[in-house]
Amino acid sequence: MTSLYSTNYHLRAHKRDAFIEFIKSLLLTPFVLHTRPKSSGSSLSSSFSNLTYGEQDNADGLASKRRNDDGSGDKKKVFDKQLSEASIGWFDSDGEGKIRDRNVERFCEILGCVEDLIRDHMLHDLNDLSELSRLSTLVPSIGRFFTPLPLRESFLRQNSKRSIAARRFVPPSFNDVRHILNEAQVAAIAPSLKLITFDGDCTLYADGTDFAQDSQLVNLLIKLLECGLSVAIVTAAGYPGDVQKYESRLSGLLDGFRASSLPPEALKRFFVLGGECNYLFRYDPLTQHLIYIPESEYPSFPSCMGFADEDGGKERVQELLDVAEETLRECAEVMGLSHTVGILRKERGIGVVVKEAGVRLSREQLDEFALSAQRRLNNHQRAKQIRRIKSHQSRSFGDLSSLSPASQNQQQQYHPLPFCAFNGGQDVWVDIGNKLIGVSILQRWLGCEGGETLHVGDQFLSTGNDISTRSACCTVWITNPEETAEVLVELGERLGKRT
Ligand SMILES: [Mg+2]
Repeated sequence: MTSLYSTNYHLRAHKRDAFIEFIKSLLLTPFVLHTRPKSSGSSLSSSFSNLTYGEQDNADGLASKRRNDDGSGDKKKVFDKQLSEASIGWFDSDGEGKIRDRNVERFCEILGCVEDLIRDHMLHDLNDLSELSRLSTLVPSIGRFFTPLPLRESFLRQNSKRSIAARRFVPPSFNDVRHILNEAQVAAIAPSLKLITFDGDCTLYADGTDFAQDSQLVNLLIKLLECGLSVAIVTAAGYPGDVQKYESRLSGLLDGFRASSLPPEALKRFFVLGGECNYLFRYDPLTQHLIYIPESEYPSFPSCMGFADEDGGKERVQELLDVAEETLRECAEVMGLSHTVGILRKERGIGVVVKEAGVRLSREQLDEFALSAQRRLNNHQRAKQIRRIKSHQSRSFGDLSSLSPASQNQQQQYHPLPFCAFNGGQDVWVDIGNKLIGVSILQRWLGCEGGETLHVGDQFLSTGNDISTRSACCTVWITNPEETAEVLVELGERLGKRT
């Protein structure tokens, strides 16, 4: 990749999802080649004018009255016949007299091929060879799939809501494909679902607000617990040791729990994991409050990542936060924002926040902070890793293979610290740890696999903090709490059919 191409690719890539772009590109074929041509529509339109009512009348109420008075039923049959004749190639009979839309079939055929690609990718993954699948060749950044996806069925349902195949001027969009994938994922995981995790801001409540008691999501989350699922909120919000702060943010939901008739064993299955993966709480039905769960009681970060025995873990965290702080301050200065934003440093995170309420940074400015921090911290840790390896190589006369297995092991023990630098919508944060670790902690503790876990969130671009969960479980990408509610209504219906 040339540097110019690399830069341009990077600029575009952080705004796009490679798999959704891939499916969009495939669906352009029926849109461009097979959508009903304008000439067909024009001739039909002119035929309608001759058959039914005058050109001058078609926009007023009188025309509507005439349509009803002058035998429109007979004319409708003529109209249907003409439509059928004019639409050869677009509509067809299914043998039982019903008209089927061949354009819909073409979309379904393409999505059927994508279903096959996903299934093939999963089979490769079972043998640890996912990099060799055809889907990996076509979409090099593709991740894991934990269930097959019934995309054809999902397309038919979304097509009935969004008129995808019928559109002549607006091609299948990012949101069309996102909804198709979401619905397919919900359908696929419903029979086996055990754990559902949610992002907080923009997923359960508006950005920066609290969970309102009158939110429709209160009852929908209660229903999930009723159905036997474990429910967790995995959020970036990090308030070390401050359970009141979490209770305040979730006050409406907790009030809903108190007012519900849910049995204690169901309420015990509700968790909150703050700071991406750092602070775990559980709802206690006795006290009707959240209680903090110490890290000693579950496989916590960093122990779950293999850092437990490493000396100086805390120092490494502080060192990484120092580098992040330096980067964020430099970035603010370069963009002329030093007087507009402040730096907020916490135990395991550092953020860029505006100094005055009501001041908003643009998405581009926030992305610049997030991408700068990602690049700098990755390079910083990679440089340390390379230096350590070269130091070992020089001590063994430059031949790594001559090192004893124990010595090579020692080198491999150097792991970069996992972190998450993301655009939070109104601020930017660099957190130590990420939601992949957060979801993994819950999965291990509750004994759930990837195909039994679903994460619902709104930040799945490379500058977001939900994207890392894709390596641990199935995901649904929503854009606001209303869409979360739609997903949960659909999921609730399917859970109700479980035996
Ligand atoms: Mg969010």
